[in-house]
Order: sequence, then C-alpha cells, then structure tokens
Amino acid sequence: MVKKVFFYFDTNKVANPFDLLLALDADYDIVLPYAGVTEENVEYIINNSIFARDKEGLKNTVIMVGGDLDASERIFQKLKRMLRPPFQMSVVLDPSGACTTAAATIAKIEKLAGGANGIRGKSVTILAGTGPVGQISAILLRNLGAHVTITSRSKDKAAKVASKLSDEVRGKVKGAQGNLTNERCESCKDASIILATGAIGAQLLDSESLKKLKPGIIADINAVQPYGIEDIKLDMDGETLNGAKALGACAIGDLKNLVEKRILKKALEETRFFDYNDAFMLARELTK
Ligand code: NAP
Repeated sequence: MVKKVFFYFDTNKVANPFDLLLALDADYDIVLPYAGVTEENVEYIINNSIFARDKEGLKNTVIMVGGDLDASERIFQKLKRMLRPPFQMSVVLDPSGACTTAAATIAKIEKLAGGANGIRGKSVTILAGTGPVGQISAILLRNLGAHVTITSRSKDKAAKVASKLSDEVRGKVKGAQGNLTNERCESCKDASIILATGAIGAQLLDSESLKKLKPGIIADINAVQPYGIEDIKLDMDGETLNGAKALGACAIGDLKNLVEKRILKKALEETRFFDYNDAFMLARELTK
C-alpha cells in the first residue's frame, strides 16, 4: 500500500502544527513539516523528493504551502513552474489558513444573504482587512461583485494593500483608515455587510456603534476575547445581534476545518493546484 505523504512548507520560522493535525485527520499516513521555506530552498526539497517516489507515490504526495501570504503565493507560483509532467504532485495554497477561512466565511455570508445576488452590488466593509484572511475575503467578495472597503490602523497600509488587491481582482477595492472608533464607523456607514478580520483580541466594533450602523449581516473571525465585534458569541450562526444576522468565529471555524479536510482528500484524488477558488467552491457545496 502506497503511503499518503503530506509535506507542509511554512515560510515562517516554526511550522504551524494546525495543518499537520488536520492532514492526519484527513487520513494521511505521514506528515513532514518544513519551516523557513523560501523560493530558493524549495528547489532543494522538491528536487530531492520527486525522484524518490514512483508515479503512484507522487499521486499520493501532497504539498501545502503556508505562512506569509505574499511569500506563500510566490512559492506556489514557483511550484507551478517546477512540477511538470511526469513529476506532478498536488499543491494546496493556504497561508495562515487564509484561503480556507475566507472561503468558509464568505460561503456562510453568501448563504445568509440569500445567495450570490444578495452580495452583488452590496457594500461590504472588512475591518482590519489587511491580514491574510481579510485580503482573501476581499478578493472573494469583490469577485462576487461586492463593493469592498478594507480598513487598517494605518492610512498608508490601507491604501497600499487595497491597491495590490485592486490589481489582483481587476476591480476597485477601497482602503480606509480605521484606527479610531469613529473612523471605523465612517468606513461602515454604507455597509450592508461588516466583516471583522482583526488580529486576536482586537475589538473593532462596539455594540452602540453596531446599533447605529444597522448592517444586515455581521461576521467576526477572531475567536479570542475580546472578540472583534462586541457581544458576538462564538457559535452564532445566523442568529440576530443588535438587528444584524451574526456569524461567530467557531461557526466559521467548524466549516473552515471541514473545507480544509475536504481539499486535502481531493488533492489525493486529483493531482493539481488548489487555491482560494477551490476552497470557496467546496465551502459553498458544504453550506448547501
Ligand atoms: P493578522 O494578520 O494577525 O491580523 C489582521 C490585521 O489585524 C492586521 O493586518 C492588522 O492590521 C490588524 N491588527 C493587528 N493588531 C491589531 C490591534 N491591536 N488592534 C487593531 N487591529 C490590529 O490576522 P489573520 O492571520 O489575517 O487572521 C485574522 C483573524 O482570524 C485572527 O484573529 C485569527 O486568529 C483568526 N482566525 C480565525 C479562524 C477561524 O476559523 N475562526 C481561522 C484562521 C484565523 P493593520 O496593521 O493594518 O491595522
């Protein structure tokens, strides 16, 4: 029986155990974590792996690239150039869990909005949207036709990240300063959907502001108190909070884990490259 091998390439100094554990739960036999992976040293790892496994072995070898968003994307693109027939393996991109987390979040928001038409043309504000999860969420929402604004504590960073995202989606993503409460409220004033994607423990929207803003849907992916949205509960899955349908971090996280396990299984069935679009398709299927 050919062993199912999961390579985890992390651009950070320490390989994140999260994805290794999920791979074991997705029935891989062996997980091999590599930390500090770069565009340069990835060649060494690949060139010393592909010749060790025969055709069946390569089909049963899957790489996940994680860590920093931009560095992971560059490694993912490099692997696309390197892994040519007959030396092909599946590669999954999921930097800081951003592809699977954003996919789960947006699929759940889409369902609450009554389908894709409930998002197209709507204004969405992503509070602290400059991190990996915020950025991939912005891309998915823009691709669904939403008018997206991302905030940052820094005006320059908001503008820089929004400009990078606008190039990627070939449409406008707006950047706004959201350091102070009144700045974040200003950026949310037209939003029918507000998504909080801030770092752990950063509260971005208080209950009084939420009552005044009256969005239709709110979602918060921060699972560590204080949460990104005041008074939200981790397991909220469409229940109402201050007039808005709410999604809490664990309701999103449960779907994220399912999506990731599904992708890892699919990567053994189909040898190819998987990114946030694949994660979103699977998240949509799982929310039907
Ligand atoms: P991240 O990069 O750590 O942080 C996102 C943004 O938060 C940063 O770009 C930063 O933006 C802002 N920020 C940092 N410290 C802040 C502070 N003290 N006050 C206000 N804003 C601050 O986050 P990520 O990796 O994208 O993940 C986002 C969140 O999702 C995290 O809370 C993470 O734990 C959570 N997460 C949840 C799940 C789930 O299943 N529910 C899965 C994965 C991740 P600026 O510097 O531009 O202001």
